[in-house]
Amino acid sequence: QPSPDEGILAGLNAQQRTAAGHGDGPLLIVAGAGTGKTTTLAARVAHLIQEDADPAGILLLTFTRRAATEMLERVARRLRGAMGDAGERAAREVWGGTFHGVAARVLRVYHAALGLPRDFSILDRGDTEDLLDLCRGRLELPSASGKGAGARFPKKAVCAAVLSRSANSGETVAETLETRYPHLMQHEAALRRLFDLYDEAKGEQNLLDFDDLLLFWEALAADPKAGPALRSRFPRVLVDEYQDTNVLQARLLKNLAPDGRGLTAVGDDAQAIYSFRAATIRNILDFGEHYPAATVLPLETNYRSTAAVLTVANAVIAAAAERHEKTLTATRQIGPKPLVVRCRDEAEQARFIADRVLELRESGLELDKQAALFRASHHSLALELELQKRDVPFKKFGGLRFLETAHVKDLLAFLRLAENPRDEISALRCLLLLPGIGRGRATKAVAALREAGGEFSTWADSPAPSGGASEWTAFVSLMQTLAANRDDLSSQIRRIRNLYRPLMEATYANAAERNRDLEQIELLAGRGRDRASFLADLTLDPPSSAAATAGPHEDEERLTLSTMHSAKGLEFEAVYVLNACQGGIPSDQAEDDAAIEEERRLFYVAVTRARTHLTICHPLTRHLKPRGLRDGYGFAELTPFLTPAALAGCEVMPASEDAVDAAPPTPAATVTAADVRAAIRGRRG
Ligand code: ATP
Ligand code: MG
Repeated sequence: QPSPDEGILAGLNAQQRTAAGHGDGPLLIVAGAGTGKTTTLAARVAHLIQEDADPAGILLLTFTRRAATEMLERVARRLRGAMGDAGERAAREVWGGTFHGVAARVLRVYHAALGLPRDFSILDRGDTEDLLDLCRGRLELPSASGKGAGARFPKKAVCAAVLSRSANSGETVAETLETRYPHLMQHEAALRRLFDLYDEAKGEQNLLDFDDLLLFWEALAADPKAGPALRSRFPRVLVDEYQDTNVLQARLLKNLAPDGRGLTAVGDDAQAIYSFRAATIRNILDFGEHYPAATVLPLETNYRSTAAVLTVANAVIAAAAERHEKTLTATRQIGPKPLVVRCRDEAEQARFIADRVLELRESGLELDKQAALFRASHHSLALELELQKRDVPFKKFGGLRFLETAHVKDLLAFLRLAENPRDEISALRCLLLLPGIGRGRATKAVAALREAGGEFSTWADSPAPSGGASEWTAFVSLMQTLAANRDDLSSQIRRIRNLYRPLMEATYANAAERNRDLEQIELLAGRGRDRASFLADLTLDPPSSAAATAGPHEDEERLTLSTMHSAKGLEFEAVYVLNACQGGIPSDQAEDDAAIEEERRLFYVAVTRARTHLTICHPLTRHLKPRGLRDGYGFAELTPFLTPAALAGCEVMPASEDAVDAAPPTPAATVTAADVRAAIRGRRG
């Protein structure tokens, strides 16, 4: 047990201590869920700072910004204990965030070394697709929906996916097409031309897309002149969830720490769930090859889950085709058996979960210690309705992107254009909102702005469009004001809202609701935020719903609704797994064995989030939409990931008597009801 004289590593077990106190050599910690990998990483950062490492020279790379913030809190707590306020201040200087977030920050500091203007804008996935589409048009490639011209050119989302896959996997476009999109091979030359033009357009407009952030950072780190400076500025790099890094990220790390000195990675190959983003567990498996000096340490005690939960989790992962045996011992012996609950349908599942959440709430378990997890964002719809009906507050992660809604994108386009007048996508977006301006006129206005070197005053000199003169004047003067960037960011947003509100009312039926979303953004901007970093944050780590930005109600206790992907690394006293059926998890999109194995690991991630109460729901009927068939209701079999061994550790119960009645799928009988009646008649003679 921890005692005060244990200092900065207080509360860690012997294995964790060895890892946290490890010297400078490359270190990999591979261990199962809940063994304290993240805890150990935080302790290691605190230890480094206490040992006089410059906190501003520490890069702490995590999967979400939320995870980084949480980890830095833990670092701060440890340091406050050991070094008082100075320690806490030091913790705030650590560079923590996602790969992309930290990349953006590094590039804002080192942009000049690459000859990159400081005010570059970041394209999100949607912008990337739009710009690709614009370039496609310029090349006069056939549009995806166009007729004739032989085979159809892929849709913009597919083009973006090919490009990103190739960047993240380190493959050429041809290789990516061959392995992932063989049916698009015939478009290889055209796609390469498209990607070249897209790169050119980004260069001209001072834009970077998500993948560029990593590629530019990598180029900087690999550079014979700038690289060494960057390395001495950031001599320590620590990475959580290493199993979900891809080839590009591994290459970047290799350039940041060529011999692995100062590099620490932690992960669990059994929790690898991002291969669709080109993540590869080869990074874990080959760590020793990439860094011959590497030390690999295990952690073997699980502190999170009760033995009852762990038994089920271990049985789930034991069935994996490929698996690296890990020892996991539970420290928490007492706890209820996990429940497998058969529900008639998704509505009953929602009612059951809501009941149970409130029941546990009554017995003292706060809402924020409970979470409902699901495979796909839309799986939570029925539950959301039920919770709303009962006034149970919740927050949703990994859902429909708040920032992808049109009105939010509109508002941000004004800010982005002000920040970077060369950003043509944002310029077009703003211009097309104005009455009296069509494509042709908008394109001309963009060209004029380009020629004027981004001076909005050039617009003031051009004639106003007929039927929209006052809006035009207001718009031009707004852009000039914003470009000066003198006001507070939230006042800037207020100005935009004033101009935008009537335009929005003319376009959308639910303008009032949308206006509240925009108000959230204004609140989020708060005081004293720097516009460029605010935009970068929003683009890189967007809140997934208006509620997630939760200005005024932030303190309110809320139930968590989250996709399984977005729940990784987190833990809750009570976890409810929704739709544990065929087509739920594994998803019906998972077709080959590798995809099914990834779904299994995802299910393992979900169940290992639970500390004490694990409830797995199996709706017996589900709304199905099998490809090629009409939608309808169908029977849903229990997920195959709950193997007999896993089920043996659970208590199986029906949510209600109704649920018992719903029959599992039965093959059609050889006789029909008419046959039976005929037989009865026959027997009567
Ligand atoms: P995951 O694989 O899910 O990311 P992890 O290995 O990162 O899990 P942590 O989240 O760091 O695990 O820790 C799991 C839980 O165990 C946390 O509640 C943490 O506070 C607790 N814990 C970790 N180490 C110890 C310890 N030595 N003593 C007591 N509790 C611990
Ligand atoms: Mg963790």
